[in-house]
Amino acid sequence: MEKIKNYINGKLVESSSGNYIDNYNPASGKVYSLVPDSNEDDINAAVLAANTAFQSWSKTSKKYRSDLLMRLASKIEEYSEELIIAESRDNGKPEALARLVDIPRASENFRFFATAILHFSSELHDMDGKALNYTLREPIGVAACISPWNLPLYLLTWKIAPALAAGNTVVAKPSEVTPMTAYILSKICAEIDFPPGVLNIVHGIGSKIGDFLTGHEDTPIVSFTGGTQTGRHIAGIASPMFKKISLELGGKNPNIVFADANFDKAVTMAVKAGFSNQGQICLCGSRLFIQDEIYEKFKKALLEKVSKLKVGDPQDDGMDLGAVVSEEHMNKVLSKITQAKKIGGNILTGGNRKLIEGDLLNGYYIEPTVIENLPFDCEVNQEEIFGPVLTLIPFKDEEEVINMANSTKYGLSASIFTENISKGHRVAAAIKSGVVWINTWLLRDLRIPFGGMKQSGVGREGGFKSLQFFTEPKNVCIKI
Ligand code: NAD
Repeated sequence: MEKIKNYINGKLVESSSGNYIDNYNPASGKVYSLVPDSNEDDINAAVLAANTAFQSWSKTSKKYRSDLLMRLASKIEEYSEELIIAESRDNGKPEALARLVDIPRASENFRFFATAILHFSSELHDMDGKALNYTLREPIGVAACISPWNLPLYLLTWKIAPALAAGNTVVAKPSEVTPMTAYILSKICAEIDFPPGVLNIVHGIGSKIGDFLTGHEDTPIVSFTGGTQTGRHIAGIASPMFKKISLELGGKNPNIVFADANFDKAVTMAVKAGFSNQGQICLCGSRLFIQDEIYEKFKKALLEKVSKLKVGDPQDDGMDLGAVVSEEHMNKVLSKITQAKKIGGNILTGGNRKLIEGDLLNGYYIEPTVIENLPFDCEVNQEEIFGPVLTLIPFKDEEEVINMANSTKYGLSASIFTENISKGHRVAAAIKSGVVWINTWLLRDLRIPFGGMKQSGVGREGGFKSLQFFTEPKNVCIKI
């Protein structure tokens, strides 16, 4: 069975304990590789390597760093088929989705920040000819980059690319549930002789080693994407140490369909927003608000499409949904469906684990599930489920839907469907979330400020915002 290795100081190494944890293939429910069960010593070794490498890496030219990151991007493309298969096997997502989204985006992240750094500039404040202030933007040190399991390589590279481009070094901690593509990335780095210590990847259980990384005195920057609870815990450790922190957390995103929406487009998008990646995207539109006048017609059209979604072997290109990421997560999602039923939720379709005969019988499949008749303020409609579960909520008018949409503790993203552009702008302005789409969902421009309000996060990533986060501004004032 393949043993994944840590990547520290340019070398692929075992964890210092020599212990491993099982890595499951969600499609079959079987263990297929082993993940290093790292400990404090491994984190210390990685931070030391990164801190040492920072002395030289932070002084390299932008062009040098840009060229190296471009090289990494090309290598990801060269190894894309291996990465696609690995991402699907580790996470349960259809290979077709990894081919369309995850792996192209991983190389794109490197290309994007490799070029962005060449165009990054800072400010000058002229005091009417009496003095000049100019702002330097300097790399900070070792960045702790912690990423989740839902878009494993996509989100890992979204952090490490800007951190490295800006001249920091990195200790990355991928999710222990989906470590494989990070491991392949580290093998690629070793193959192209990436400078030792600049990027380090330590695998292991977040709750066991995370605090050593986020609380280490030599990691002045912490960039985290994951659940709100974990984010709160990390903030509790890093904030009193005055570290720079970026937190990209959970969401319970409203998808609002007005009666005047383009009906067919809104139905298609509602299905996509509800079930892509088995509903395991922080931006999924898991609360679907439909205006009264079209509620029944929309529900019928939606159910027709949902009933045609195919769930099964992620390797089969005909599948729309694969497996959810783990047995534990599957049981959590199913328990939310049970809870919904208990409080009067009407399961319109799905609602159960899906068993696939043969080799995949123990895989973690869930039927795409649509539920109605739940109060907008019940727990199921307030807490993130992060699975293929969509709830339908009718609404009367703008005021009512805005109140319901804003009622959760989250504020990550929202979609609004209407052909009335003034209404679209008005509702977008009233929605409390970091990202609002009008007549679309998940249309991403990597330059935009991306992040959440309320308990969906702190700070913004994307474009120059990422480069600003990963640099420290220093103002120099010259008296003329
Ligand atoms: P999680 O919070 O359980 O884990 C995320 C990462 O944190 C993992 O690598 C884990 O090992 C690590 N971790 C766990 N405990 C830690 C600790 N004490 N210190 C440091 N690191 C620790 O999240 P998950 O279940 O992997 O991912 C799902 C969550 O991520 C969902 O809530 C989803 O909404 C969120 N998410 C948010 C975004 C966004 O951009 N806002 C994107 C994707 C996922």
